[in-house]
Amino acid sequence: MKKIAIIGAGVAGLEAGHVLARKGHNVILIEQKNTTGGNVRNWDRLFPNQREASEVYQPLIQQAVNDKLRILTDTVVMSAKYEKNTHRLTLSNGETLNVDAVLISSGFRVFDAHRKEEYGYGIYHDVITSADLEKIMAVNQKVRTTKGKEPKRVAFVHCVGSRDEKVGNTYCSKVCCVTAVKQAIEIKQLYPDAEVFCLYMDLRMYDRYFEDLYREAQEKYGVTFIRGRLSEVAESFDDRLQIKTEDTLRGKPLKFNVDMLVLMTGMEPTSLAELLATEFNIHRGDDGFFTPEDEHVNFNISRREGVFLAGTCKGPKNIAETIADARSAAETIINYLK
Ligand code: SF4
Repeated sequence: MKKIAIIGAGVAGLEAGHVLARKGHNVILIEQKNTTGGNVRNWDRLFPNQREASEVYQPLIQQAVNDKLRILTDTVVMSAKYEKNTHRLTLSNGETLNVDAVLISSGFRVFDAHRKEEYGYGIYHDVITSADLEKIMAVNQKVRTTKGKEPKRVAFVHCVGSRDEKVGNTYCSKVCCVTAVKQAIEIKQLYPDAEVFCLYMDLRMYDRYFEDLYREAQEKYGVTFIRGRLSEVAESFDDRLQIKTEDTLRGKPLKFNVDMLVLMTGMEPTSLAELLATEFNIHRGDDGFFTPEDEHVNFNISRREGVFLAGTCKGPKNIAETIADARSAAETIINYLK
Protein backbone atom coordinates (compact mmCIF):
# COMPACT_ATOMS: atom_id res chain seq x y z
CA MET A 1 0.00 0.00 0.00
CA LYS A 2 1.35 3.42 -1.02
CA LYS A 3 0.51 6.77 0.48
CA ILE A 4 -0.83 9.56 -1.71
CA ALA A 5 -1.65 13.14 -0.77
CA ILE A 6 -4.34 14.84 -2.83
CA ILE A 7 -4.35 18.62 -2.60
CA GLY A 8 -7.90 19.82 -3.21
CA ALA A 9 -11.06 17.89 -2.36
CA GLY A 10 -13.31 19.19 -5.11
CA VAL A 11 -14.70 17.09 -7.95
CA ALA A 12 -11.27 16.04 -9.30
CA GLY A 13 -9.72 15.29 -5.89
CA LEU A 14 -12.71 13.26 -4.68
CA GLU A 15 -12.92 11.19 -7.85
CA ALA A 16 -9.17 10.51 -8.03
CA GLY A 17 -9.16 9.65 -4.31
CA HIS A 18 -11.91 7.09 -4.90
CA VAL A 19 -10.06 5.38 -7.78
CA LEU A 20 -6.80 5.25 -5.79
CA ALA A 21 -8.51 3.94 -2.64
CA ARG A 22 -10.21 1.17 -4.62
CA LYS A 23 -6.74 0.05 -5.71
CA GLY A 24 -5.82 -0.28 -2.03
CA HIS A 25 -3.80 2.91 -1.64
CA ASN A 26 -3.79 5.09 1.44
CA VAL A 27 -5.24 8.46 0.37
CA ILE A 28 -5.20 11.72 2.32
CA LEU A 29 -7.24 14.63 0.98
CA ILE A 30 -6.04 18.10 1.95
CA GLU A 31 -8.64 20.82 1.44
CA GLN A 32 -8.18 24.55 1.98
CA LYS A 33 -11.90 25.18 2.55
CA ASN A 34 -14.03 23.85 5.37
CA THR A 35 -16.06 21.58 3.07
CA THR A 36 -15.38 19.10 0.28
CA GLY A 37 -17.07 19.11 -3.12
CA GLY A 38 -15.53 22.28 -4.57
CA ASN A 39 -17.24 25.05 -6.53
CA VAL A 40 -20.05 22.86 -7.82
CA ARG A 41 -21.51 22.86 -4.31
CA ASN A 42 -22.54 26.46 -4.94
CA TRP A 43 -24.39 25.53 -8.10
CA ASP A 44 -28.09 24.80 -8.33
CA ARG A 45 -28.48 23.13 -11.72
CA LEU A 46 -26.04 22.03 -14.39
CA PHE A 47 -25.99 22.53 -18.14
CA PRO A 48 -27.10 21.32 -20.59
CA ASN A 49 -30.05 19.47 -19.01
CA GLN A 50 -30.69 21.41 -15.77
CA ARG A 51 -29.77 18.40 -13.68
CA GLU A 52 -29.50 19.22 -9.98
CA ALA A 53 -25.85 19.81 -9.08
CA SER A 54 -26.27 17.90 -5.81
CA GLU A 55 -26.89 14.72 -7.83
CA VAL A 56 -23.28 15.00 -8.95
CA TYR A 57 -21.40 16.25 -5.90
CA GLN A 58 -23.26 14.35 -3.16
CA PRO A 59 -22.28 10.88 -4.46
CA LEU A 60 -18.66 12.04 -4.80
CA ILE A 61 -18.64 13.21 -1.19
CA GLN A 62 -20.39 10.03 -0.07
CA GLN A 63 -17.93 7.74 -1.84
CA ALA A 64 -15.06 9.43 0.04
CA VAL A 65 -16.91 8.63 3.29
CA ASN A 66 -17.54 5.03 2.19
CA ASP A 67 -13.88 4.64 1.22
CA LYS A 68 -12.93 6.00 4.67
CA LEU A 69 -10.53 8.49 3.12
CA ARG A 70 -8.74 10.73 5.57
CA ILE A 71 -9.90 14.29 4.83
CA LEU A 72 -8.20 17.33 6.30
CA THR A 73 -10.31 20.46 5.77
CA ASP A 74 -9.20 24.05 6.55
CA THR A 75 -5.71 22.82 5.80
CA VAL A 76 -3.06 23.86 3.29
CA VAL A 77 0.38 22.56 2.37
CA MET A 78 2.88 25.11 3.63
CA SER A 79 6.03 23.50 2.25
CA ALA A 80 7.11 20.43 0.28
CA LYS A 81 10.48 18.69 0.06
CA TYR A 82 11.37 15.76 -2.18
CA GLU A 83 14.07 13.28 -1.17
CA LYS A 84 14.67 9.61 -1.85
CA ASN A 85 11.34 9.05 -3.62
CA THR A 86 9.40 10.58 -0.73
CA HIS A 87 7.53 13.87 -0.58
CA ARG A 88 7.65 15.46 2.84
CA LEU A 89 4.73 17.87 3.25
CA THR A 90 4.37 20.33 6.10
CA LEU A 91 0.74 21.26 6.67
CA SER A 92 -0.83 24.38 8.18
CA ASN A 93 -2.20 22.23 11.05
CA GLY A 94 1.38 21.49 12.14
CA GLU A 95 1.37 17.93 10.82
CA THR A 96 4.10 16.49 8.59
CA LEU A 97 3.21 13.87 5.98
CA ASN A 98 5.59 11.59 4.13
CA VAL A 99 3.94 10.37 0.93
CA ASP A 100 4.90 8.44 -2.20
CA ALA A 101 3.00 10.65 -4.64
CA VAL A 102 1.11 13.93 -4.70
CA LEU A 103 -1.89 14.82 -6.82
CA ILE A 104 -2.61 18.53 -7.18
CA SER A 105 -6.30 19.12 -7.88
CA SER A 106 -6.60 22.57 -6.35
CA GLY A 107 -9.32 23.65 -8.78
CA PHE A 108 -10.26 27.21 -9.66
CA ARG A 109 -11.83 30.27 -8.09
CA VAL A 110 -14.59 32.36 -9.60
CA PHE A 111 -13.39 35.73 -10.94
CA ASP A 112 -14.06 38.54 -8.47
CA ALA A 113 -16.53 40.82 -10.29
CA HIS A 114 -15.55 43.81 -8.11
CA ARG A 115 -12.48 44.07 -10.33
CA LYS A 116 -14.72 45.17 -13.25
CA GLU A 117 -15.81 48.34 -11.49
CA GLU A 118 -17.50 49.73 -14.62
CA TYR A 119 -20.06 46.89 -14.39
CA GLY A 120 -21.22 48.09 -10.99
CA TYR A 121 -20.95 44.88 -8.96
CA GLY A 122 -21.07 45.80 -5.28
CA ILE A 123 -22.06 49.35 -6.29
CA TYR A 124 -25.56 48.93 -7.70
CA HIS A 125 -28.27 46.70 -6.34
CA ASP A 126 -29.34 44.01 -8.76
CA VAL A 127 -25.97 43.62 -10.43
CA ILE A 128 -25.18 40.02 -9.53
CA THR A 129 -22.89 37.28 -10.83
CA SER A 130 -23.85 33.96 -12.39
CA ALA A 131 -22.61 32.28 -9.17
CA ASP A 132 -24.90 34.54 -7.10
CA LEU A 133 -27.84 33.61 -9.33
CA GLU A 134 -27.18 29.90 -8.78
CA LYS A 135 -27.14 30.44 -5.01
CA ILE A 136 -30.42 32.38 -5.15
CA MET A 137 -32.08 29.65 -7.19
CA ALA A 138 -30.67 26.90 -4.98
CA VAL A 139 -32.23 28.50 -1.91
CA ASN A 140 -35.78 29.21 -3.06
CA GLN A 141 -36.08 28.87 -6.84
CA LYS A 142 -37.33 32.46 -6.98
CA VAL A 143 -35.46 35.40 -8.37
CA ARG A 144 -36.45 38.86 -7.19
CA THR A 145 -34.97 42.33 -7.45
CA THR A 146 -33.71 43.88 -4.22
CA LYS A 147 -37.10 45.61 -4.00
CA GLY A 148 -38.79 42.23 -3.98
CA LYS A 149 -40.25 42.46 -7.49
CA GLU A 150 -40.19 39.93 -10.28
CA PRO A 151 -37.59 41.10 -12.81
CA LYS A 152 -39.21 42.15 -16.08
CA ARG A 153 -35.96 42.62 -17.96
CA VAL A 154 -32.74 40.74 -17.32
CA ALA A 155 -29.42 40.99 -19.19
CA PHE A 156 -26.58 38.49 -19.03
CA VAL A 157 -23.08 39.81 -19.73
CA HIS A 158 -20.65 37.25 -21.14
CA CYS A 159 -16.86 37.15 -20.68
CA VAL A 160 -16.61 38.92 -17.30
CA GLY A 161 -13.02 38.39 -16.20
CA SER A 162 -12.21 36.25 -19.25
CA ARG A 163 -10.89 37.27 -22.69
CA ASP A 164 -10.14 40.62 -21.13
CA GLU A 165 -6.68 42.11 -21.26
CA LYS A 166 -7.62 44.80 -18.76
CA VAL A 167 -7.87 42.23 -15.97
CA GLY A 168 -4.98 40.15 -17.31
CA ASN A 169 -7.08 37.14 -18.34
CA THR A 170 -6.94 36.61 -22.09
CA TYR A 171 -8.18 33.01 -22.04
CA CYS A 172 -11.76 31.80 -22.50
CA SER A 173 -13.36 30.22 -19.41
CA LYS A 174 -15.18 27.80 -21.68
CA VAL A 175 -18.30 27.08 -19.62
CA CYS A 176 -19.82 30.55 -19.13
CA CYS A 177 -21.49 30.87 -22.56
CA VAL A 178 -23.53 27.72 -22.03
CA THR A 179 -24.16 28.66 -18.39
CA ALA A 180 -25.56 32.02 -19.56
CA VAL A 181 -27.88 30.25 -22.00
CA LYS A 182 -29.00 27.82 -19.29
CA GLN A 183 -29.64 30.62 -16.80
CA ALA A 184 -31.42 32.76 -19.42
CA ILE A 185 -33.78 29.82 -20.05
CA GLU A 186 -34.31 29.37 -16.30
CA ILE A 187 -35.33 33.03 -15.95
CA LYS A 188 -37.80 32.58 -18.83
CA GLN A 189 -39.16 29.41 -17.24
CA LEU A 190 -39.75 31.32 -14.01
CA TYR A 191 -41.10 34.47 -15.67
CA PRO A 192 -42.27 33.75 -19.23
CA ASP A 193 -43.15 37.41 -19.84
CA ALA A 194 -39.72 38.71 -18.87
CA GLU A 195 -37.42 40.03 -21.58
CA VAL A 196 -34.04 38.34 -21.42
CA PHE A 197 -30.88 39.43 -23.25
CA CYS A 198 -27.45 37.87 -23.63
CA LEU A 199 -24.65 40.31 -24.48
CA TYR A 200 -21.83 38.27 -25.98
CA MET A 201 -18.58 38.67 -27.91
CA ASP A 202 -18.62 35.16 -29.45
CA LEU A 203 -20.79 32.26 -28.46
CA ARG A 204 -18.71 29.23 -27.64
CA MET A 205 -21.19 26.37 -27.60
CA TYR A 206 -18.50 23.76 -28.03
CA ASP A 207 -19.95 20.53 -26.70
CA ARG A 208 -22.72 18.08 -27.49
CA TYR A 209 -26.24 19.51 -26.93
CA PHE A 210 -24.96 23.04 -26.30
CA GLU A 211 -25.96 24.27 -29.75
CA ASP A 212 -29.42 22.73 -29.23
CA LEU A 213 -29.73 24.65 -25.98
CA TYR A 214 -28.78 27.88 -27.75
CA ARG A 215 -31.41 27.24 -30.41
CA GLU A 216 -34.02 26.39 -27.79
CA ALA A 217 -33.22 29.63 -25.92
CA GLN A 218 -34.05 31.62 -29.05
CA GLU A 219 -36.87 29.64 -30.62
CA LYS A 220 -38.75 28.31 -27.62
CA TYR A 221 -38.00 30.95 -24.98
CA GLY A 222 -37.41 34.09 -27.03
CA VAL A 223 -34.09 35.03 -25.45
CA THR A 224 -32.45 37.86 -27.43
CA PHE A 225 -28.75 37.57 -28.24
CA ILE A 226 -26.86 40.79 -28.90
CA ARG A 227 -23.28 40.72 -30.10
CA GLY A 228 -21.52 43.48 -28.23
CA ARG A 229 -19.48 44.25 -25.16
CA LEU A 230 -21.03 46.11 -22.24
CA SER A 231 -19.32 49.47 -21.83
CA GLU A 232 -21.07 51.01 -18.86
CA VAL A 233 -23.71 50.51 -16.20
CA ALA A 234 -25.46 53.32 -14.32
CA GLU A 235 -28.56 53.76 -12.20
CA SER A 236 -31.51 55.02 -14.22
CA PHE A 237 -33.97 57.69 -13.08
CA ASP A 238 -36.61 55.00 -12.38
CA ASP A 239 -34.26 53.08 -10.08
CA ARG A 240 -33.39 50.46 -12.66
CA LEU A 241 -30.04 49.80 -14.30
CA GLN A 242 -29.15 51.61 -17.49
CA ILE A 243 -26.70 49.69 -19.63
CA LYS A 244 -24.72 50.90 -22.62
CA THR A 245 -23.36 48.60 -25.25
CA GLU A 246 -22.93 48.37 -29.00
CA ASP A 247 -24.67 45.96 -31.31
CA THR A 248 -21.58 45.16 -33.35
CA LEU A 249 -23.52 43.16 -35.96
CA ARG A 250 -25.64 46.21 -36.78
CA GLY A 251 -22.96 48.76 -35.97
CA LYS A 252 -25.31 50.64 -33.65
CA PRO A 253 -24.86 51.88 -30.09
CA LEU A 254 -27.50 50.61 -27.68
CA LYS A 255 -28.76 51.97 -24.39
CA PHE A 256 -31.57 50.35 -22.41
CA ASN A 257 -32.79 49.74 -18.89
CA VAL A 258 -32.94 46.40 -17.10
CA ASP A 259 -34.08 45.22 -13.66
CA MET A 260 -31.23 42.82 -13.18
CA LEU A 261 -27.78 42.38 -14.66
CA VAL A 262 -26.05 39.01 -14.39
CA LEU A 263 -22.27 38.97 -14.89
CA MET A 264 -20.93 35.70 -16.30
CA THR A 265 -17.78 35.49 -14.20
CA GLY A 266 -15.06 33.16 -15.44
CA MET A 267 -12.51 30.87 -13.82
CA GLU A 268 -9.16 31.86 -12.35
CA PRO A 269 -6.39 29.84 -10.68
CA THR A 270 -6.87 29.59 -6.92
CA SER A 271 -4.92 31.71 -4.48
CA LEU A 272 -2.92 28.57 -3.62
CA ALA A 273 -1.50 28.13 -7.12
CA GLU A 274 1.55 30.33 -6.61
CA LEU A 275 2.56 28.67 -3.34
CA LEU A 276 2.08 25.17 -4.77
CA ALA A 277 4.05 26.01 -7.93
CA THR A 278 6.96 27.25 -5.83
CA GLU A 279 6.95 24.43 -3.28
CA PHE A 280 6.58 21.64 -5.82
CA ASN A 281 8.66 23.39 -8.49
CA ILE A 282 6.01 22.93 -11.19
CA HIS A 283 5.23 25.09 -14.21
CA ARG A 284 2.43 27.62 -14.53
CA GLY A 285 1.43 29.25 -17.80
CA ASP A 286 1.08 33.02 -18.30
CA ASP A 287 -2.56 32.55 -17.29
CA GLY A 288 -1.50 31.19 -13.88
CA PHE A 289 -2.90 27.67 -14.40
CA PHE A 290 -0.55 24.68 -13.98
CA THR A 291 1.09 23.29 -17.10
CA PRO A 292 1.65 19.53 -17.45
CA GLU A 293 4.78 18.02 -18.92
CA ASP A 294 2.98 17.38 -22.20
CA GLU A 295 -0.42 18.83 -23.15
CA HIS A 296 -1.35 15.98 -25.50
CA VAL A 297 -0.10 12.74 -24.02
CA ASN A 298 1.24 13.13 -20.47
CA PHE A 299 -1.32 15.68 -19.38
CA ASN A 300 -1.48 14.53 -15.76
CA ILE A 301 2.28 14.58 -15.18
CA SER A 302 4.09 17.63 -13.83
CA ARG A 303 7.81 18.20 -14.31
CA ARG A 304 8.43 17.20 -10.65
CA GLU A 305 8.93 13.49 -10.05
CA GLY A 306 5.89 11.96 -8.34
CA VAL A 307 3.71 15.08 -8.58
CA PHE A 308 0.59 14.85 -10.75
CA LEU A 309 -2.09 17.29 -11.90
CA ALA A 310 -5.84 16.92 -12.38
CA GLY A 311 -8.88 19.06 -13.13
CA THR A 312 -9.36 22.78 -13.41
CA CYS A 313 -6.04 23.68 -11.77
CA LYS A 314 -4.78 23.15 -15.36
CA GLY A 315 -7.38 25.43 -16.95
CA PRO A 316 -11.16 25.74 -17.42
CA LYS A 317 -13.07 22.45 -17.73
CA ASN A 318 -16.63 21.29 -17.33
CA ILE A 319 -17.55 18.63 -14.77
CA ALA A 320 -17.45 15.62 -17.10
CA GLU A 321 -14.02 16.67 -18.38
CA THR A 322 -12.84 17.16 -14.79
CA ILE A 323 -13.99 13.69 -13.73
CA ALA A 324 -12.40 12.07 -16.79
CA ASP A 325 -9.15 13.92 -16.12
CA ALA A 326 -9.20 12.86 -12.45
CA ARG A 327 -9.64 9.19 -13.40
CA SER A 328 -6.82 9.50 -15.89
CA ALA A 329 -4.58 11.10 -13.22
CA ALA A 330 -5.38 8.28 -10.77
CA GLU A 331 -4.49 5.63 -13.37
CA THR A 332 -1.25 7.48 -14.14
CA ILE A 333 -0.38 7.49 -10.43
CA ILE A 334 -1.22 3.77 -10.09
CA ASN A 335 1.15 2.98 -12.97
CA TYR A 336 3.84 5.23 -11.51
CA LEU A 337 3.63 3.55 -8.10
CA LYS A 338 4.00 0.11 -9.66
S1 SF4 B 1 -17.23 30.64 -22.60
FE1 SF4 B 1 -18.24 32.40 -23.58
S2 SF4 B 1 -18.61 33.82 -21.87
FE2 SF4 B 1 -17.06 32.36 -21.18
S3 SF4 B 1 -15.13 33.38 -21.61
FE3 SF4 B 1 -15.59 32.00 -23.33
S4 SF4 B 1 -16.61 33.28 -24.84
FE4 SF4 B 1 -16.67 34.38 -22.86
